Amino acid sequence: MSSIAFEPKPIAGLKRADKTVDQILKTDFSVQSVLVYGPPGTGATYLVKRLIGSWLCKTPNEGQACGSCSICRSFENGRAVDLLHVKPIGAGRLIRVSCIKDPGTQDKEVDHPPVLEFLRSAPLMARSKVVWIDKADRLVDTASHSLLKLLEELPPYARVVLSTNHIGGILDTIRSRCLIVACDLATQDELDQAAGGLSELERVFAKSPGDLAEMRSDPARFIELARLLSRAQSLKPGAALRLSEDLRNLAPKFPGVDDSVRSHNVALLEAIAQWLISTQKEKSHLAIAAGDAAKLINGNGNPGLIFDAFCAKLILEMSR
Ligand SMILES: [Zn+2]
Repeated sequence: MSSIAFEPKPIAGLKRADKTVDQILKTDFSVQSVLVYGPPGTGATYLVKRLIGSWLCKTPNEGQACGSCSICRSFENGRAVDLLHVKPIGAGRLIRVSCIKDPGTQDKEVDHPPVLEFLRSAPLMARSKVVWIDKADRLVDTASHSLLKLLEELPPYARVVLSTNHIGGILDTIRSRCLIVACDLATQDELDQAAGGLSELERVFAKSPGDLAEMRSDPARFIELARLLSRAQSLKPGAALRLSEDLRNLAPKFPGVDDSVRSHNVALLEAIAQWLISTQKEKSHLAIAAGDAAKLINGNGNPGLIFDAFCAKLILEMSR
């Protein structure tokens, strides 16, 4: 089998999920809808593209895309006419109902036909007609419900793959219509082996090949974060507001699910929780507190107040 360079294979982990995809592809046409999920950097996109490649390919080899037919080449060049890639749009980064079905009014920001319309006709050239719903947790309710109806009665030539980093954001009813592929995090040993050794700080923060790549692109912010956090144990309670401010100043350097301030703050708190899990094992409630703070911010809480309260707790507990 010749390989297709659609997406680099992650450097570690993924063994079980990769096997599940092999099985799906070997069953050929009995599985029509698949949901792939996993934390960022675990290889979900790699698996999605493996599925799509195989579903489109005219001459698959034991279920794997051949990599050389005209369809495989058009997919590789991003010009496969029988593939529809649906992703969040607009300032809210949402998948609107107009992405799924014709809402009756024009939505200028949607630059593709609605999914229902796309799947109404058989494939033009490929073996099947494929829809990829990327970041499916961003589907608005009405879009989810239209999609659900579609999944219940897909035409035989149609294949749908949904991908997400947040499985909790997908309706149970949609989940139950899909075969689920879970991408696990690599173990630290797998990561260590594949990356040719991890630094002490990488061991603290990196949970996945994606995390590691992200860290290595700009290690300074992690060094600074670790410095601020380790200093907390020698601070007086009165220094909480200053620590809160210093930490929040780092937030823009931590990329979240989108470009909002809220999402940067949540990503920072996730990194803080990871540091606490790795270095303060006997104080697990602190990592939980960081997780709770992230939840409050996700629920639109005031980041300043939430960070202030969290830092006060951190200083108090770490100096004990
Ligand atoms: Zn092919």
